[in-house]
Amino acid sequence: MRDAALIRPARRGFAALAVLAVLALAGFAAVRSILPPPAIPASAPADEFSAQRAFSEVRTIAAAPHPAGSAANDRVREHLVETLRGLGLSPEVQDTVSTQGGQLSASAGGTGLARVRNVVTLIPGSASTGRIFLVAHYDSAQTGPGGNDDAAGTSTVLETARALTSGGRLRNDVVLVLTDAEEACLCGAEAFVRQHPLARDGGVVLNLEARGSSGPAIMFETSTGNANLVGAYAHAPYPVGTSFAVEIYRRLPNDTDFTSFREAGFLGLNSAYIDGAAVYHAPTDTPEAMDRDSLQHHGSNALAVTRELGGRDLSTLRGGGDATYFPVPGLLVRYPGALVWPLAGLALIAVVALGWLARRKGRLTGRRLALAGALGLAPIAVAPVLAQLYWTVLTLIRPEYAALPIDPYRPGLYRIAVIALAVAVVVCWFALLRRKLGAAALAVAGLGWLAVLGVVLAAAVPGGAYLATLPALAGALAGIAALYLRDGAATAVITVGALVAVVILLPTVVMLFPALGMGLGAAGAFLTVLMMLALLPVVDLIHPSAEPVQGLPAARARRRGALPTLVASLAVLACTAAGLVVDRFDAKHPALTQLMYALDADTGTAEWLSAETDTQKWTSQYVAGDPKPVAGILPAFGAEELRTGPAQAATLPVPNLTLVSDTAAAGGRVLTLRLAPQRTVRFVTLHVAAGTEVSAATVGGRPLPVTTSAGGGWGFGFVFHAPPAEGVEVVLTVRGTGPVKLRAMDASDNVTEMPGFHARPSGVGVLGSHSSEMVAVAKTYSF
Ligand SMILES: [Zn+2]
Repeated sequence: MRDAALIRPARRGFAALAVLAVLALAGFAAVRSILPPPAIPASAPADEFSAQRAFSEVRTIAAAPHPAGSAANDRVREHLVETLRGLGLSPEVQDTVSTQGGQLSASAGGTGLARVRNVVTLIPGSASTGRIFLVAHYDSAQTGPGGNDDAAGTSTVLETARALTSGGRLRNDVVLVLTDAEEACLCGAEAFVRQHPLARDGGVVLNLEARGSSGPAIMFETSTGNANLVGAYAHAPYPVGTSFAVEIYRRLPNDTDFTSFREAGFLGLNSAYIDGAAVYHAPTDTPEAMDRDSLQHHGSNALAVTRELGGRDLSTLRGGGDATYFPVPGLLVRYPGALVWPLAGLALIAVVALGWLARRKGRLTGRRLALAGALGLAPIAVAPVLAQLYWTVLTLIRPEYAALPIDPYRPGLYRIAVIALAVAVVVCWFALLRRKLGAAALAVAGLGWLAVLGVVLAAAVPGGAYLATLPALAGALAGIAALYLRDGAATAVITVGALVAVVILLPTVVMLFPALGMGLGAAGAFLTVLMMLALLPVVDLIHPSAEPVQGLPAARARRRGALPTLVASLAVLACTAAGLVVDRFDAKHPALTQLMYALDADTGTAEWLSAETDTQKWTSQYVAGDPKPVAGILPAFGAEELRTGPAQAATLPVPNLTLVSDTAAAGGRVLTLRLAPQRTVRFVTLHVAAGTEVSAATVGGRPLPVTTSAGGGWGFGFVFHAPPAEGVEVVLTVRGTGPVKLRAMDASDNVTEMPGFHARPSGVGVLGSHSSEMVAVAKTYSF
């Protein structure tokens, strides 16, 4: 079967070059279309969003770490109120206590609560049909100034408000909600949703976040039934969002303020830029780290979508099911979710038709196609496994990578290496099988797998089915047409089929790497394999062994056939070597370490603790051995296991737990207690001994579920963030009349002040986790 290819252009070399050029251009345009627009200078017209203007707000907001309850947090809030007043608005501070939002795990140490102070203000509409909520959190993690997370969102809300108030009035109300205590427990958003009068009638939420310092502002989460909303989002000047991301995000255990709104039935869109995630929550999350183009992307889209929604009848937004949508150069393609299954079926039928027609045309045999189909699973399975191994090897070469939260500081070359790795796997598979099975059989088998995956995705992840279905459908239709066309026309139509795969899949690969990080490089490798399978007819065109050369010895032909695999493999090695040189740790890009200190006031002993999964060299001077549960002395950690090491006991004031009243109740006692920290702390916790049955609990005036259990001998408990100086009132109803044992703990963030702490050398930094740098003091009380 000498003509076992789908296309046979006469001037093969020329055709190959032309096709490559077209696909490279398409790939370039597709990737470019999802990159952020350039930052607009402060001299821009008043009704525009200027990233430079917003950035001056970023500088003020992110001057220092400002977790909920801190003095720095007070300063930021006062600045926000002042700035909004300056726009002619009447902001108010919602000062209340709230329990945690979202599905934050209550198992680790009990329910979270916080005293929150949200900044809320209304921009009234002219004839409002509902409310639009612009939401961002103004608190930061304790370990970093939050230059991106979420000074980006907060400054975007301020600059959007400035643009809105300097233009004409919108039809609908716009409510600005700058939340507090997002990092602690999503408590600010929860407080607004459950307690604020402006939230009572629901509405549409635009939540603005940043989990990194660069990259496109991706609209990655929606409320369910998003078709009409996505239609409004398509009016953004730079829409970057895919229904695939929404489906992935729904399966990840991540939460933002948006969760509280979504669970309360609000409609909405959640956007964030997520690349450059090595700075996430870390001291390196400074204003200087921010790519201002990303801020521009956030703002241009937020302002345009607010204006679009601001003019609509919001009562018509609900319904319409979930849409499929994805960006292509110049627009956001979208179609109803109802088309997912018909398209998946159509793709399958088209590939079957292509196989049948190709067989009739003598391009393949049933046996060859069946074999190619069976062996087609190999690259789909092998490439993701190799991508995971690749990261494992990198972390062996550079152990500091194991401690990074999502990605290295400069992961670009490693990402390209993973893409090259996936390409190498597919071209190697192609080179090995081409002579035996023929290029046509392999190409049809590749499209067949895409069509089958399209069906699998339609069932499991409907919003992501287009990634496999559309390339399969386009490739199969192009293949059918090519069978009946000649030469240039056949090549052109095959190129169009391949183009669809490149335009759809390449931007998704580019977005997926930062979303999941190098630790889940398998996902990027998998999508790259899908793209390569759709490109097999084109691969055949450029593959050297495809060229029948007279008198070329078989061994030499085989060597030539290995050339593309060799080139791709060399690219993997070159990118890896260059990546290791480029991405070195230094003072500006420190390796990340996690250290805590705990003083047990009962025994007067202290310990160092670390939550690192692989102990870093610097941390190993403090902790050793295997991780073990610490709930016995620190119930707030629940089932979490930590490495520990002995520490010198510091002189620290102990959290004060006093009995305010003790009254008899049916079958038990009602204890009113006051838990008051005696130093500046970020949170306090209280846990009741496991043997005591708690039948009701109210903390700071909020009733709590009593079913939680911390472990380590402790049962019901809670974590209260940003406690007022005078302390927190706790009312417990317990069964029985015996003594009640309680464990009180408070936590500050000054591990560097503890005796025996040695300053981190240059190049060693702090991991942005919610417990990094924590100093805990715990004491047991009995009443
Ligand atoms: Zn955030």
